[in-house]
Amino acid sequence: MGIDWTGQIGQFEATQVRYGDDPLPGQAAFRYQPGGRPVLISAPHGACHWRGNDWKFQDGFTAALAHVLASHTGAHALYTVRRIRPDPNYDDDCDYKRTLAKLLQDHSIRLVLDLHGARYDRSFGVALGTIDGRSCPAYEAGLIQAFMDQGFDPDQAYFLDRLAVNLPQYRGGALQRTVTRFVWEQCRVNAAQIELNAHLRIIPGHNANSLTFTPDPQRQRRAIEALINIVKAI
Ligand SMILES: [Zn+2]
Repeated sequence: MGIDWTGQIGQFEATQVRYGDDPLPGQAAFRYQPGGRPVLISAPHGACHWRGNDWKFQDGFTAALAHVLASHTGAHALYTVRRIRPDPNYDDDCDYKRTLAKLLQDHSIRLVLDLHGARYDRSFGVALGTIDGRSCPAYEAGLIQAFMDQGFDPDQAYFLDRLAVNLPQYRGGALQRTVTRFVWEQCRVNAAQIELNAHLRIIPGHNANSLTFTPDPQRQRRAIEALINIVKAI
């Protein structure tokens, strides 16, 4: 028996993350979890986020995933637990990125993994975005290998086993002021955006209402194992 990832992620999401609520007075919408390893796991879309002139839905369970991954590996983590304005993955003028920049410097962080969620009907299980290789020159090959070691591969026939690398629209910041682009261009730290299909991310019964798909805990576990191995190799 291994670690009960879904139990831990589901429990944290249900008790600590409130997608549509404002932050408590005097508190930020995001939380920093200190670590002791030179990796930071980021989840800016853990709750709803204001982009343009509208609230966008959360990338569910990415805050809890960041928390659990960091707890098991000693990585640092930064994740949104209440609705946040503006969207840190779209706007550079925000407290999330200011906090992130300071953390990278203070802790000599070498790699940022920015976690996101893709819809259940996307054509991949995992999408890795490195702005066509630019944002993560030191670690991109290692990231790809870690996912391949867990059975995710660009050439897999079954969509949830497919690893997409710099797919158009999932390149991690070729067009937008993402966290990945900010970390690389402005902080000169390696960064990659990792998008998990909802099948590999959503845990029924915890903050998740009626689903139109069947979550895949076995592939979710493999994706988590890949992420753990990536962090532990740094
Ligand atoms: Zn996102």
